[in-house]
Amino acid sequence: MTVEWSGTLKQLFTTHKRLQTERFISTSHYSNGMVQLIGNSKKYVTKVQEGDLPRELYALKNSIPWPINISNTPFHLACYLRDRNYSLPTFPGHHRGIDIQTKAGECIVAPERSKVIACHPNADNELSNFSLLGENSKIQYDFIHVDPESVPKKIRDRTQVDPEQEDIFIETGEYVGCVGTWPLELSDLVDVPKDVMELFGKSFHHLHFELSYAPYDMHSMDYLQAIINDRSLINPLLLLKKID
Ligand SMILES: [Zn+2]
Repeated sequence: MTVEWSGTLKQLFTTHKRLQTERFISTSHYSNGMVQLIGNSKKYVTKVQEGDLPRELYALKNSIPWPINISNTPFHLACYLRDRNYSLPTFPGHHRGIDIQTKAGECIVAPERSKVIACHPNADNELSNFSLLGENSKIQYDFIHVDPESVPKKIRDRTQVDPEQEDIFIETGEYVGCVGTWPLELSDLVDVPKDVMELFGKSFHHLHFELSYAPYDMHSMDYLQAIINDRSLINPLLLLKKID
């Protein structure tokens, strides 16, 4: 039974990958070097101002590189901080980060020199999540729905926060993995904008990218409190470089 199921899932992944390739051959997302904002990405202009930035991070406003090369890759900002969940509109509770919808297999890089916090499998699908802590900024970056096999071993092997373990550092711009293959098509409950449908169909490969401010010792109770407390969440768009 398990074998059959995973066979079907693999088939689904393959179909998705083929569909992706076909779509990207015929559709251009860029004209005259300018990014075309599609679907919910058009809300960027208002969302980029929303929320408060901790005073200590003022100097970093709109200076942090995107974890995906959005100036070269078709993308859709499907869901913003505190929005209703895009792929599960009936899900209670607000969204904790931004969803950057793109091609499965798209490269992800570290926005700044960071310590590896920990890497975990996703509870409800075959993808992986991991967190980095910015060395200078003390921003925690959560990378969610990453292809598990693409994550470098040094990140993948750090499965828990443990003061006994030696720190692992990742440099600015260093490769940390690829966007995973989202195993399901979007349901009919999701109102997929027409231009997004043309580009991505009902697929939803995406990086859920979450930022929080954690200026504490990674092994302290203060740190744990800050991370489980929603108040430490930051609108990532306040820190990420402006999209022109
Ligand atoms: Zn998300």
